[in-house]
Formats: sequence, structure tokens, C-alpha cells
Amino acid sequence: MYNSMGSAPNQTRTECIRCGTCCEKGGPALHLEDLELVVSGALPASSLYTLRSGEPVRDDVAGTVTPLEDEIIKIKPARGTQACIFYDSTLKACSIYKSRPVECRVMKCWDTGEIEALYSADRLTRRHVIPSDSGLWKLIHAHEDRCGFARVLSLVRELGSRAEGENLESLMDMLNYDLYLRPMVAEKTSIGAEDLDLVFGRPLHEAVKVLGLRVEVEDGRHVVRPKA
Ligand code: SF4
Repeated sequence: MYNSMGSAPNQTRTECIRCGTCCEKGGPALHLEDLELVVSGALPASSLYTLRSGEPVRDDVAGTVTPLEDEIIKIKPARGTQACIFYDSTLKACSIYKSRPVECRVMKCWDTGEIEALYSADRLTRRHVIPSDSGLWKLIHAHEDRCGFARVLSLVRELGSRAEGENLESLMDMLNYDLYLRPMVAEKTSIGAEDLDLVFGRPLHEAVKVLGLRVEVEDGRHVVRPKA
């Protein structure tokens, strides 16, 4: 769904033929209208992830990598694919059809006007789904202070093609803080490990791959390697 934004309308269609292409391109971003689906558990926290403000994302249509202006909550892809986690490829059907989010309800590949108008409006963020008096916010702010994307991007820019020096050490500190924080929170709180990509955004080592960084695990730590 997300990657289909910006595609030209499919001129050969006039109705949905359930080809599954939009669901295979990825799950939708959520909007305020979808809040009830999250609150009711129709969209459990374990099925969602956050793309944080400033996070670099690839626009496959424009061929660019651009930092996000504002935070987005999306439905996760199924493991090892881009397809929405709720897409049943055998049946070519949505497994939560009656509870599908608003982007899915308005998506028409042959007429993209409605979804383009909706796309950036009233986006759901963590502020809407994590109560303001939750102790989690202290951890989220601490994570943002240590692993905010403004700092990540600045360090990567200054790193250039060299994988050495103070900037590299700072970057690896951030990657490892993100790496250790998640299991620690899962162990010491009632938050499930599967919910952490919503709480802290997707793992930092995954998010920085789009910047061309090669991150490997060595002795249980993340290390950044020179590009091959
Ligand atoms: S929620 Fe359902 S309709 Fe929406 S992208 Fe996922 S599988 Fe497709």
C-alpha cells in the first residue's frame, strides 16, 4: 500500500480484481480513523511498527531516500517479504477485511485521488496509542535522545566512506544502545518483545541499511563495516 503511493493509476482497471498487488507492496500507514482498531485490539500492537520522525525512507518511484517529516505508524510486513502481515497469499485475501484500515478501504489502483488526498492527513502516531501518563514515555524520550535520526544522519554524513574514528564509535554506540534497550524493556516490563517496533520504531540497524551502511553482529555487538 505504502509503496504504491505515487504510482500512476492503473488505466486498465475499473474495479478491484483482487490481484493482491497493493497488499503485496506493503501494509498501510494508519490514521486517526483507525485508532479504534488499535484500541479494540483488531490491530494488535504486535502487528504495527513506527517509522520515526526524520527516519530516512526510500521512495522507489522517485528513486530517492528522504527523511520523514513526521512519524508514521504502519502495519508490519510478513517476515522476509514486503507484503502486509495480514495478506493471505494463498487465498489472495485480507485476513482482517472487515477491520481493515482506512487507507485499504479507499485504495483503488485505477483511481488514486481519494488515497492521495487522505495519505498525509491525520496520521496516527505513538502519542495517540501510548497513554501520556505511561512510564514508557520516559524510555521513548531517552531512546529518542540517544538514537534520534537527526543525529544518525549527521554522523553518517560526516562518516563519508571511512568506517573509522569518533563518528563511527558514536554511531555504533547508538546502534548498540538500541540493540540492548529492546530485550531489557521486554524483560523488565509487561511490554511484549513483538510490540517494541511500535514503541521504539523499527530496529536502528535495519533503519540505517537504506543509508548504505553495512552493519554486522560481532560478539553480540553491532559493528559498522566499510562498504563492500
Ligand atoms: S490490511 Fe488487508 S487490505 Fe490492507 S494491505 Fe493488509 S492485507 Fe491488504
